[in-house]
Amino acid sequence: MYRYGNYNSYYSSSTRRTSSRSTTARQSTPATEKQISFIGTLRDGRELEASDVEMVNRLLSQEVVSMAAASNAIEFLKAKPWKREEVANPVTEAGMYKLDTAFFKVQLSKQSGRFYAKRLVRDDGPNSFHFEYEARAIHQLRADHRLTLEEAKAWGVANCTCIVCGTLLTDPKSVAAGIGPVCAKRV
Ligand SMILES: [Zn+2]
Repeated sequence: MYRYGNYNSYYSSSTRRTSSRSTTARQSTPATEKQISFIGTLRDGRELEASDVEMVNRLLSQEVVSMAAASNAIEFLKAKPWKREEVANPVTEAGMYKLDTAFFKVQLSKQSGRFYAKRLVRDDGPNSFHFEYEARAIHQLRADHRLTLEEAKAWGVANCTCIVCGTLLTDPKSVAAGIGPVCAKRV
């Protein structure tokens, strides 16, 4: 299995390998229609560099594509990750979100630069909560699932807990407000 950074280097390297007799024969055999259409499907479905797309398009625009070149392209494209599905109205801000009856805290990962979500989970004890990372949640959340300050406060009053940090409210002012002053800015 060859996994090069781009199609160019992959292709030139595979071309170099085609010096044996059997592959030379394959080079003169034209690719099947199925192979050609599969290359198009892979090009559209996989996450590719612009230069890779250009290279694939150049291959497909050739009058005759050899079976060897088609196989190389398919092998190269199949090793690429799937394109991420583009969703309408994605989450673009850190904060608190509500999906059906569940609450999520969205944070930005400094490492990956991507948002991720943690679900607010109720513990066995009364008014005790913690957050648990949930990988798929960020893909289900939308910008309009954002919790309002009023919703955060109402939940906080009902559960005597700050929804942003999950801790028990003890300060009388915070108990009455349903949220702490610092966390109120982070809803
Ligand atoms: Zn808090």
